[in-house]
Amino acid sequence: MTKDLAAFAKEKGVKYFMISYTDLFGGQRAKLVPTQAIADMQDEGAGFAGFATWLDFTPAHPDMLAVPDPNSVIQLPWKPEVAWVAANCVMDGKYVAQAPRNVLRRLIDQAAADGMHVKTGIEAEFFLLSPDGSQISDEYDTASKPCYDQQAVMRRYDVIKEICDYMLELGWGPYQNDHEDANGQFEMNWEFDDTLATADKHSFFKFMTKSVAEKHGFRATFMPKPVEGLTGNGCHAHISVWDAPGSKAKTNVFATTPSTDSQTSELGLSEKGRHFLGGIMKHASAFAAITNPTVNSYKRINAPRTMSGATWAPNSVTWTGNNRTHMVRVPGPGRFELRLADGATNPYLLQAVIIAAGLSGVKSEADPGKRYDIDMYAQGHMVRGAPKLPLNMLDALRAYDKDKGLKEAMGKEFSEAYLKLKMEEWNSFVSHFSSWEKENTLDI
Ligand SMILES: [Mg+2]
Repeated sequence: MTKDLAAFAKEKGVKYFMISYTDLFGGQRAKLVPTQAIADMQDEGAGFAGFATWLDFTPAHPDMLAVPDPNSVIQLPWKPEVAWVAANCVMDGKYVAQAPRNVLRRLIDQAAADGMHVKTGIEAEFFLLSPDGSQISDEYDTASKPCYDQQAVMRRYDVIKEICDYMLELGWGPYQNDHEDANGQFEMNWEFDDTLATADKHSFFKFMTKSVAEKHGFRATFMPKPVEGLTGNGCHAHISVWDAPGSKAKTNVFATTPSTDSQTSELGLSEKGRHFLGGIMKHASAFAAITNPTVNSYKRINAPRTMSGATWAPNSVTWTGNNRTHMVRVPGPGRFELRLADGATNPYLLQAVIIAAGLSGVKSEADPGKRYDIDMYAQGHMVRGAPKLPLNMLDALRAYDKDKGLKEAMGKEFSEAYLKLKMEEWNSFVSHFSSWEKENTLDI
């Protein structure tokens, strides 16, 4: 049954709703709607000038309506008189094909038609910086190997605890929080869920983390490489596929069963899991344009070793067992971890591209190729023939443009709009005159 937002407001004491949608660059855009107006907005949506955000519209396009999905509503734990609700973009009575949440919903339906229900858990790493973003917020956080630093995590206890308490309140099942591998970097983990639920939570987590950090006088950033020489912000995704959505899920389609393919499987991945992984491997260089969507993303992958000794980010398309130096890790039976995405990835497009690539792998019975059980950081040169990940955003956009199958699976309108806007961003970057050029070219 559809939740009635007006009744929800009455029951919870909500005064305003943030009707929020996510554009192609991952920006969250919202209107604050007083409760008196929410019943009409629930039916008709809130009006936006679509061209004013990153969706590839012009001022000549009609109004875009953001129609709230009441199942996604979350009362802000830090400001209970406001509730956030994710919306689906509609124009001229039709879903906007390139809008990220619509792209994901279409792919979820497609997977469901094939009896596959993807579930994911994500690890959205972030830094806590000074308010102007110029330095790490904790001047004592200077260890060369700060991962899991007990003292440093306790110096930011008030922020971490507040966010974790809110996740507990929201029923997300958070289960661990730590100081990550870079000075000033943290990670908080909560339970995996259906991809749409994970994408909504991922969006809300970013909003919540930034809001709580601001409240404490800090600035939270998910930027892929916010500090030169330190480990970047990853957004690893743990992927499994089930027989049904939500709590109806009983069987993990990726896990081997004794009667089926346990004889031929590797690391407890079923044939279907193997083909899904095959699709991920096949399309990785192209979907880096989505998992690693900014100029800065390529300073995280392909990075030289950091102060701590590892980049924690892949540079080649390889997979392995429980070993963190590859793009894909199979840590246990029935699931795998894609370690490519970074903190700038669009929460909806990340999930969409996982499904698109995985489905293509299942359909074509793709083979993930040879598994390498080596330390890629130390012995990567021994691997022959594994594709390298794009070296920069332009290479990634070109790889995406060349991958006809993936472009089609993500949707023609989406792919065209995304490539167009991202190429404009790249052109803006290369026309930017940098001090590096002057330093290296002035006396030539
Ligand atoms: Mg991590």
